[in-house]
Amino acid sequence: MNSIEKLKENLNEQQLEAVTETEGFVRVIAGAGSGKTKALTSRYAYIVEALGINSSNILCVTFTNKAAQEMRKRVKRLVGENSDLSYITTYHGFCVRVLREDINKIKYPKNFIIMDVEDQKTVLRQVYNELGLTSKVFTFKQVLRYISKQKTSQEYLQYILESKKKETDNEIEKVFIRYLEKQQRNFALDFDDLLNFALYIFVNNPDILEKWQKRLHYIQVDETQDSSQKQFMLIEMLSQIHKNLFVVGDPDQTIYEWRGAKPEILVDFDKQFIDSKTIIMNQNYRSTPNILNLGNHIIKNNKIRVDKDMFTQNPEGIEVVHFHGQNDYEEGLWVANEIKRLVADETSKYSDFAILYRANHISRSIEQSLIRENIPYSVYGGIRFFERKEIKDVLAYLRLIEFGDDFSFLRVVNSPSRGLGKKFIENVAKIAEKEDISLYSALKENISEKDLSRKGAIEFIELIEKYKKSKNDVIISDLVKEIMDESGLSAYYRTDGDTDRLDNIKELQNSIIVLETQDEEQINLTEYLQEIALYTNMDIEDDKNDRVKLMTIHTSKGLEFPYVFLCGFSEGVLPSAMSIKERRAKAIEEERRLTYVAITRAEKAFYMTESEGFNFSTGLNKYPSRFLFEISDNYFVRKGELSQEIIDEAKEQLKLDSTRQPIQKKFNVGDIVNHTIWNQGKIIEVNEEKGEYQIEFLETGKTKPINFEFKGIEKVEILNQKLF
Ligand code: ATP
Ligand code: MG
Repeated sequence: MNSIEKLKENLNEQQLEAVTETEGFVRVIAGAGSGKTKALTSRYAYIVEALGINSSNILCVTFTNKAAQEMRKRVKRLVGENSDLSYITTYHGFCVRVLREDINKIKYPKNFIIMDVEDQKTVLRQVYNELGLTSKVFTFKQVLRYISKQKTSQEYLQYILESKKKETDNEIEKVFIRYLEKQQRNFALDFDDLLNFALYIFVNNPDILEKWQKRLHYIQVDETQDSSQKQFMLIEMLSQIHKNLFVVGDPDQTIYEWRGAKPEILVDFDKQFIDSKTIIMNQNYRSTPNILNLGNHIIKNNKIRVDKDMFTQNPEGIEVVHFHGQNDYEEGLWVANEIKRLVADETSKYSDFAILYRANHISRSIEQSLIRENIPYSVYGGIRFFERKEIKDVLAYLRLIEFGDDFSFLRVVNSPSRGLGKKFIENVAKIAEKEDISLYSALKENISEKDLSRKGAIEFIELIEKYKKSKNDVIISDLVKEIMDESGLSAYYRTDGDTDRLDNIKELQNSIIVLETQDEEQINLTEYLQEIALYTNMDIEDDKNDRVKLMTIHTSKGLEFPYVFLCGFSEGVLPSAMSIKERRAKAIEEERRLTYVAITRAEKAFYMTESEGFNFSTGLNKYPSRFLFEISDNYFVRKGELSQEIIDEAKEQLKLDSTRQPIQKKFNVGDIVNHTIWNQGKIIEVNEEKGEYQIEFLETGKTKPINFEFKGIEKVEILNQKLF
């Protein structure tokens, strides 16, 4: 049997149709695990092997890096190592290819820089310095979101590509303009630019566009439901000559609407391309019936969707489990033990397990348990919790107080900055070496020497000495709080604008509080640091490939794993309180789709876990997610002790939430209002979806977002409108 026959043999009827219909506009709509990606990769192989088309003439795009890797891996298995698979990529990856080849058309060098989020923050740090801003005015997150929003339109390109100048009094716009200037000076492109620049080049250079149109005979798009208008415009533009476009997707898995995904593109594909063909697939090959039923059961609660009838012939398998822990320690431990148990059975290995969560900080308690139980793991698309800079900073203060070691000293002596530079440290090091003592002792004992007696250094020594004396009299969580406040770390991370870092520190504090409330005997600093050292100096020798995988649900899209744990399934986390606050009803549906995506990643077993405790981001006690209450009891078994009291409180909380009517706007654009603190201002925008006004205040000239429900503003009838 030749390879094409073998390929066909592995497909069902609909898949076969999708694979062999290579010409024209074709769409596949189907649920999770129905073999969409399989059809797409098989089709790719078919075009290469049965039609003899060179792989460099086929463009295959998807949304996330991980999904693109997965696609490439599958195609490689089908067509072998020798083909050029570099056009199997993400939208961004493809735009980089275009720019590498043709960016000189807009007088940029081919070795332009691509900025990641950290680079963006570095630029913002500079801009904040120049403009004298702090995160009190805007956090980096707000500015980055603003920048991204501005870049949804092409207008900004005039300022970097056509040297048009822009003057403004608006504070955030000023930041944006400076950011653009710095980008241009460095020939640096952020992620939004990649697509915009590529489109700009195509639109303004028909010859270049034609070159690419001619080159790409076949175009295939996976996860089309998450494509934005602009991404699809690019694809549509490129397919205009050969007119071979194949799109697949599942509207129920749209999880990037908040970032501009337009599922309508997929849903209305047949209206845009009148003679297109649509193929529907209903059989799920990935999951057991238990998992599939759970997914279907949850997603049915979404109002805006087309119902699908999915079935599977897979064997029954094991039951879905919900575990409820008394605290996050218990939750993490249960997950770790379950993994250990299953691996000990020798029916599975570590890499068969994926742990998914909605928000990054959830990984902390899970990571701790995995490390404690010696289970190797990797965090996908993120940094392990205890390796994050801010966590290391806080722990280094604690270690310096307890142990006085050089490593911690070097980490914190000038963090936050006390004006103690390299030269200063060298001087301390010289003394330490001569006297054979630690750096900290060298500084302390010679602090009155001319070279060393700087204000910053004196204060630093006083601070550490103070804690050395008091450390046994306060509990560790209080010690951390005092250190944060008095060392200037809190202020530093607050003004720094990167508020994620503050969240992580809060999560660390939270974990210490849990530890303190749990242990009858008060844990001392040495014990705590020794315990934590386990997590920070992790150097387990293990097989890099055989590890448990931790990632956010967003990262897991398009992937599959035998065992899936959805952790931190608490109200406020999933659904995310922040998204609900920002996008209300729309957010609930998207959060439900996220839950659906998480469930449908699982092949053999699915677990959902959550625990009691305090949620520092909502400021409320933690309760099971509302989605858990949407599932009838016969779809899963419950482990752990979930008291009726907690269930009642959780439901009460939800009721309170749903009876809270969306607040109506009281003012309109153009109204002049009086604010209790900032006095007169003018409403310049009313955002009903978010429930907030943008108000430009007369005295400060600043524009601030004010909630509809805020009681401290009232309308003023003003005669002298000219003031504004
Ligand atoms: P998602 O919506 O999550 O991206 P999908 O529709 O892309 O899912 P695939 O990942 O292509 O689904 O397929 C799911 C699993 O089912 C894969 O392991 C795949 O190999 C298997 N599969 C798909 N089609 C068949 C088939 N006809 N016969 C046997 N196995 C299949
Ligand atoms: Mg897929």
